[in-house]
Amino acid sequence: MTTHIAILDRDGVINADSPDYIKSEAEWIALPGSLEAISRLNHAGYRVVIITNQSALGRGRINMEQLNAIHQKLTAHLSQFGGSIDAILFCPHTPEDNCACRKPRPGLYQELARRLGISLSGVPAFGDKLCDIEAARAVGARPILVRTGQGRGLEQSGQVPSGVPVYDDLRAAVTAWLPDAGKPR
Ligand SMILES: [Mg+2]
Ligand SMILES: [Zn+2]
Repeated sequence: MTTHIAILDRDGVINADSPDYIKSEAEWIALPGSLEAISRLNHAGYRVVIITNQSALGRGRINMEQLNAIHQKLTAHLSQFGGSIDAILFCPHTPEDNCACRKPRPGLYQELARRLGISLSGVPAFGDKLCDIEAARAVGARPILVRTGQGRGLEQSGQVPSGVPVYDDLRAAVTAWLPDAGKPR
């Protein structure tokens, strides 16, 4: 089985987003079907990587210990569905930091490509915001929008770039990306 890469945004794609940030394990709530969807990607031969803006760190709203606890909850719940995450790359900066890694800038995508020694050309990148789409496009990845999180609002604003497919949630997006999932291979 060929190994592929899939890139996922976190908030609004895997878990419910919050305007006040996700600051604790208790505030991290998986969206319906998202963990099963990640597991399905894994079983179809995909290594799944999360790339996420976490300005709550730079703003001092959370610390690394809390972020690690949130990600431990994510991976523990995901493992109950037989899924796993290969890596979580996060930008800890605020917009004022003007860093190279906060989406829509593609710094973390480029770091991932460097680490893996591969091109991200054509790699599916699931997100709920314009910044996810723009960062994915900057490295030649294939952006896919979900209507969870801020995705529906983006769609209704008419700002989804042409050619970007839109699905109700990660479950529907992964089903569309893996049309043969569930069939014996
Ligand atoms: Mg998001
Ligand atoms: Zn950054």
